[in-house]
Amino acid sequence: MRKDSFPKFKALLKKVDNVVIVTHWSPDGDAMGSSLGLYHYLKTLKKTVTVVVPNEYPDFLKWMPGDKSVLVYEKNEAKVNKLLAKAGAIFTLDFNSFKRIEKLGEEIAKTSAPKILVDHHQQPDTYASLYFHDVNACSTCELIYDLIIGLGGKKQIDKKIAACLYVGLMTDTGSFRYPSVSSKTHTIIAELLKTGIIPSEIHSAVYDTYSESRMKLLGYALSEKMTILEGLPVAYIALSESELTRFDYKKGDTEGLVNYPFSIKGIKVCALFNESEGGVKTSFRSKGKIDVNTFARAHFNGGGHINAAGGKSYGSLEDTVKKFISLAKDLVK
Ligand code: 5GP
Ligand code: MN
Repeated sequence: MRKDSFPKFKALLKKVDNVVIVTHWSPDGDAMGSSLGLYHYLKTLKKTVTVVVPNEYPDFLKWMPGDKSVLVYEKNEAKVNKLLAKAGAIFTLDFNSFKRIEKLGEEIAKTSAPKILVDHHQQPDTYASLYFHDVNACSTCELIYDLIIGLGGKKQIDKKIAACLYVGLMTDTGSFRYPSVSSKTHTIIAELLKTGIIPSEIHSAVYDTYSESRMKLLGYALSEKMTILEGLPVAYIALSESELTRFDYKKGDTEGLVNYPFSIKGIKVCALFNESEGGVKTSFRSKGKIDVNTFARAHFNGGGHINAAGGKSYGSLEDTVKKFISLAKDLVK
């Protein structure tokens, strides 16, 4: 954990006008919530702010306040590179290594602007000038809330900021049920609700948005593709590119799928393998002390949290699954 003092953040922000906020590859609810929450707050400080995402994010996050202003790097490289060159500060939210944002990371590494890291994942790199990093935070949105309060911005937290932060707190905690949830999480939520946001509406906007084909993909994955390793508390689901295509796969359609086997009594590790053109996207989830961050780093070019991590494999889907099976016994011992 490293949290620089609020006066340091204040001093830096006082000096800059142009701010760029970037978040991780395949942005999720916490990535978008923290970025847009901070975006709205910095706007109240009269900064010129842009949120940049490396690639597209799911449609179920596209209702969020400020969404229309987000730039997708893959589609706006030249424009983003100009903004980065002009930026007085670059916030990097919900990730902690430039590798995680691919080409955008290479571009940011070249800039002279101070970088500000706000994140809750394990093992951060050391590229930043200022850190607000805590692996015990349930979400980056929790950290953005703390940062805004620390900067004296409590009064600035309006309905827009609250809605954005609520999304990240909700999605990164599995709707307030993971071990990362504490009384602090609920205290922050209580404060956010005072702005007038309606939790049931936000929950519905994010989760009740399945297409028919996404729902059928979920059914197919669970009934036809879920495998429990014999004698081990481990379940996995592997989906080939043609299976995903058959169910008209859209970005975000397998979000949350990896967790379903936990509903089976005794399961302690779940894995999901999605085949795509560039290789296989892997997702790992665990219970208790089983550390999938270390596992994903060591074997699948990834990382994340102790109980939730992701990565990628450049082998075939079949080889990736075989590799996972061969490592599973050691992982849970
Ligand atoms: P998911 O399985 O939902 O993609 O990701 C689980 C967690 O691991 C998230 O917190 C995510 O940010 C992180 N994560 C996912 N993929 C990668 C990766 O390739 N590298 C690293 N370092 N973290 C990842
Ligand atoms: Mn997060």
